[in-house]
Amino acid sequence: MVIQLDKNITSDQHLALSNTLKSYGFSSTYVNTQFGKYLVSIGKKALDLRKIGNEPGVKDIFKVDDPYKLVSSQWKIGKTCIDLGDGVKIGNGHFQTMVGPCSIEGEQNIIDTIEHMKSIGAKIMRGGVFKPRSSPYSFRGHGIETLKLWHEIASAHGIKIITEVMQVSQIEDMLPYVDILQVGARNSQNFNLLDELGKIDKPVMLKRAISGTIEELLQSAEYIFANGNEKILLCERGIRSYEQAYRNTMDINAIAILKDKSHLPVIADPSHGIGVRKYVESIAYASVAAGADAVIVEVHQCPEKALSDGQQTLDYQQSKTMHDKIHQIRNVLNN
Ligand code: PEP
Ligand code: MN
Repeated sequence: MVIQLDKNITSDQHLALSNTLKSYGFSSTYVNTQFGKYLVSIGKKALDLRKIGNEPGVKDIFKVDDPYKLVSSQWKIGKTCIDLGDGVKIGNGHFQTMVGPCSIEGEQNIIDTIEHMKSIGAKIMRGGVFKPRSSPYSFRGHGIETLKLWHEIASAHGIKIITEVMQVSQIEDMLPYVDILQVGARNSQNFNLLDELGKIDKPVMLKRAISGTIEELLQSAEYIFANGNEKILLCERGIRSYEQAYRNTMDINAIAILKDKSHLPVIADPSHGIGVRKYVESIAYASVAAGADAVIVEVHQCPEKALSDGQQTLDYQQSKTMHDKIHQIRNVLNN
């Protein structure tokens, strides 16, 4: 179960509550986030919640059957909204597109992308400066100095930044220059990294692992929340299947299921989800129709020349068409 605690709970009340739970055979883990204080309590036997609900220091109490607790929709009333400031919000009715190259390629690439974004009204720019690549000989990103340059240009234009953090040692250096830290598919179950991202006060977009289940994604998100950071976005980016006609199998089902099982915003990545440029737009539309709170899409002035993932990258015209159609789809569906 999830026990919401009073903000002003005293240490005596806290101790008494933990002891009461213990006497019923329940363990309890204390979680202190930017927004609240919780006890996640796990036990084998059934417990009459009323026995706990009246204890001093308890604000509310919820039975959560899911193996993940704090990210579950079973306790939180309503959906989570991630507020990036300057009116840029994701979730609970707020929709965004995140666009940009697979990897940030340099100053001109940043300037071109931002100009394009402004023409279509996109507010969040994606791009890697640390790139996980299947081959050690592929381009692996321009690193922290390029992130600083990107931040300088983007903030002057009111554009927010999402970029991938690959290891614990990068977090501190990257933090001042990012609005959302992305955890890539290959790191989706790097629990040390997730623990540390739970200790910061910046949004984290967690991608589903290449062969990860929906439940595993939610359990990974739970690590971030349980360490104190409620600002989490879940991302479906396609999973590995037997199909060879495209790069990954975009699991549209997962979008609907995640929206139901969790209160967190759900982001769709159709670029990696299908991995073939000419199908990316269709999969973006399907994702929006399934309820995605944002799409993250690779866009480049000249995809053929992109330093990575050009084969799944839209050009500016395709990106504009996609934005227009997403707008229409959202109007029709009213979501
Ligand atoms: C990316 O977004 O550029 C990326 C590497 O994604 P993923 O981790 O989903 O492969
Ligand atoms: Mn990519």
